[in-house]
Amino acid sequence: MKAPVLITEIQRFSVNDGPGFRTNVYLKGCPLRCAWCHNPETISPRAELFWKKRLCTQCGACMDACPQDAINPPIPPEIARQEDSTYHKIIREKCNGCMECVKVCSYDALQVTGRAMSIEEILDEVERDRPFYDNSGGGLTLSGGEPTAHPEFACSLLDGARARGLHTCIDTNGYCEFEVLREMSRAADVVLFDLKHLDSRRHREETGVENKRILENLTNLSRIHHDIWIRIPVVPGFNEDLEFHRDAAAFISSLGGSIRRVDLLPYHNWCQDKYGWLGIDWVYREIEALDPSILEIHADFYREKGLRVTIGGSGFEETGTALRL
Ligand code: SF4
Ligand code: SF4
Repeated sequence: MKAPVLITEIQRFSVNDGPGFRTNVYLKGCPLRCAWCHNPETISPRAELFWKKRLCTQCGACMDACPQDAINPPIPPEIARQEDSTYHKIIREKCNGCMECVKVCSYDALQVTGRAMSIEEILDEVERDRPFYDNSGGGLTLSGGEPTAHPEFACSLLDGARARGLHTCIDTNGYCEFEVLREMSRAADVVLFDLKHLDSRRHREETGVENKRILENLTNLSRIHHDIWIRIPVVPGFNEDLEFHRDAAAFISSLGGSIRRVDLLPYHNWCQDKYGWLGIDWVYREIEALDPSILEIHADFYREKGLRVTIGGSGFEETGTALRL
């Protein structure tokens, strides 16, 4: 039997992920391994355990409940909670995901990330904010993880949203068969398309895959979809150099009028708690967030090409140049 598609979060009132107020639905599962990923709990398609050390009293109940011996014995809570503590509650290599431990934790220190929901359940929740969509031009944004990793589910969700009169966006890394993207974009009013690097070697080093398929898909998509927003996560030491942005502006501008805007998304490290909850040592942990004002210089490359550009993805910053449509 096919494993169900899991949702990590349904996030209301987003203003950074498409027009107006959005409700973002995050699907679990992604073929990329971006080293700076801000949603590490969406990478694996399976349900995972969060262990929140600040809530853990080290009572030991989870250890007694675990059938796999996958839980370390308790230590004094004040030592386990220290920022530099190397103590982890879960021995991930032994864990089989049975979630018996979660049932016995009385302190919410163990939580499951990833739950199965039906299309109707998701849409009922998204529809709660319809008055806000009507006033702002907002709607549903399907994100992840990677929506194209679950084409059947994602298309049904988008079609269902449209049948209810909701505006739809997908947020994709573009790494899939083009036919999948074509089918999914048919049901999306706006496609938010991630662009990370033009150099394939650098792309592979930081995301785990080469960029050829992504760039080809973006080029092909620009010929059949009329409303594409390019999203560039600007990451220190990876793609914050001006040369990349000059070349990216030239490439994007060559794609024509279906590219409606470019969002430069400055790297931040607000997600570091989530890495800790998953027991992952995050290589970007010590890297400071990028000050958005630094990206004004980068934004100029896009403006010079006549492209609309924002820093951060919300609202709209005028370029002084008319949109090329
Ligand atoms: S049951 Fe909960 S509070 Fe007790 S040791 Fe396990 S995680 Fe900590
Ligand atoms: S999910 Fe199951 S196997 Fe994993 S730590 Fe909890 S009880 Fe043990």
